Amino acid sequence: PNEQFEPDPSKKTLVVLGSGWGSIALLKKLDTENYNVIVVSPRNFFLFTPLLPSCTTGYIEHRSIMEPIRNILRHKKAAVKYYEAEATKIDYKNKKVTIRDDSDVKGDNMETQVDFDMLVVGVGAENATFGIPGVREHSCFLKEVGDAQKIRKKIMDCVETALFKDQSEDEVKRLLHMVVVGGGPTGVEFAGELQDFFQQDLLKWMPQIKDNFRVTLVEALPNVLPMFSKQLIDYTESSFKEEHIDIRTKTMVKNVTDKTIEAQITLPDGTKKIETIPYGLLVWATGNAVRSVVKDLMGQIPAQKDERRGLKVNEYLVVKGTENIWAVGDCAIANYAPTAQVAAQEGAFLARLFNTMAKTDVIETELQELSEKQATAKADDRNQILNEITERQRQLRRTKQVGPFQYSHQGSLAYIGAEKAVADVSWFTGNIASGGTMTYLFWKSAYLSMCFSSRNRILVMMDWMKSRIFGRDVSRE
Ligand code: FAD
Ligand code: NAD
Repeated sequence: PNEQFEPDPSKKTLVVLGSGWGSIALLKKLDTENYNVIVVSPRNFFLFTPLLPSCTTGYIEHRSIMEPIRNILRHKKAAVKYYEAEATKIDYKNKKVTIRDDSDVKGDNMETQVDFDMLVVGVGAENATFGIPGVREHSCFLKEVGDAQKIRKKIMDCVETALFKDQSEDEVKRLLHMVVVGGGPTGVEFAGELQDFFQQDLLKWMPQIKDNFRVTLVEALPNVLPMFSKQLIDYTESSFKEEHIDIRTKTMVKNVTDKTIEAQITLPDGTKKIETIPYGLLVWATGNAVRSVVKDLMGQIPAQKDERRGLKVNEYLVVKGTENIWAVGDCAIANYAPTAQVAAQEGAFLARLFNTMAKTDVIETELQELSEKQATAKADDRNQILNEITERQRQLRRTKQVGPFQYSHQGSLAYIGAEKAVADVSWFTGNIASGGTMTYLFWKSAYLSMCFSSRNRILVMMDWMKSRIFGRDVSRE
């Protein structure tokens, strides 16, 4: 039934930007029969980000955690239009979004506009660089599939180049120094995965790198994983020590060149010094920044003027200062951490809200018609119509009872390498903090169950098995 998208002029047009955690959770639960739904995203798939760090070493193949958006939309009751494009401008006043096709294949028309009655902004965030010179040019981020592929290739490049004939000892040391900047969960998980790769596979194939391969995690604050409890921070730090991952806290990177980082180190007596650290691979994971399309929209709405971190939303996720724009996930500021967990709950909430709003619209139209009918009806029919009106009013009150968005925190989980994970999980009796191999098994089963589809689940399990049996693939492609 959903093959042809025919916009129905009697329905509102709902445009959804993005195909990440927030937008996909919305689309999954949205009754698409109520609106003309149009999705715009440069990425024609959903990406299960929690397992992305495993793709950097080939422990999991990236395609196993991608779900094509066409496959997701195909199952909707009413057709949904999808454009593979980037929203470059949201014209709030004229209710138009400019979209640009950025694909490598150039069509005659690469830019156009889409009209909306309602708009959901779920474009996520960019990588923060804080304007530090050299970061964009020389480091790898870890947000998208392409980033993971780039890192995977670069790791092998560094190793093979270090093993090149007559390479000087200093150069070997530099090339095999893997530096991760940012001790949030992205940096920690990547450092753990990389050390696993070294211990479990690289050493087997290239024992010559044993003494020089080093992973260093650099963090500006006094400790890593600030969102976890003190006990789990200590556990992570001691586990990294055991695994020979060097943690450099109170070390703030200020400049990046093609072969070194310059960092300001705060010494125990409070004095500061600058150190130059040579690296072969540099992975930059210092959190989120606002996308330019969002910044531009914020500039159009006076109520958003004082906010810098993203779109301020109210308790119904309406972008403050507007009536017909909602925001979900990392681009929305609603006092929650920018996580998949929050984005998914926000998306699901909006689906409930929109499904209810559509029902409300129908009942309000029926009420209007009944009132007109009642005015001209014969006395005998009036009672009957009055009963119907009362019933509709009752229905209306019931459907209008969608409470504001409330986030329910299920806990925080992170893989820390060496088949160990840390978890701060909410349980009936309160919070449980745990770390170790059992937590790793919990981490594995939790993320497996959260995978988007059974197809993803099976592929991920097969990848895990493949890597166990044959080791990770060290070919550089
Ligand atoms: P995203 O999922 O980033 O999606 C944004 C979408 O918008 C994408 O489809 C993108 O292509 C699209 N887009 C971008 N620009 C435009 C544009 N101009 N126009 C239209 N579309 C656009 N969170 C957890 O809770 N648990 C975890 O274990 C976890 N692990 C993570 C691991 C990694 C490596 C990373 C990077 C993040 C992790 N997170 C985790 C955080 C989580 O991924 C984000 O909070 C989540 O993706 C936010 O969802 P979102 O929908 O706002 O954005
Ligand atoms: P983050 O914001 O959590 O951490 C970034 C870290 O980089 C901070 O600790 C900051 O002090 C440090 N930093 C910033 N500038 C620096 C500099 N110049 N030099 C050295 N250190 C610097 O970022 P993230 O880890 O990318 O996570 C982003 C979001 O995604 C967070 O909300 C996180 O909770 C979520 N996430 C969750 C998981 C998980 O639950 N397992 C995994 C990945 C990401």
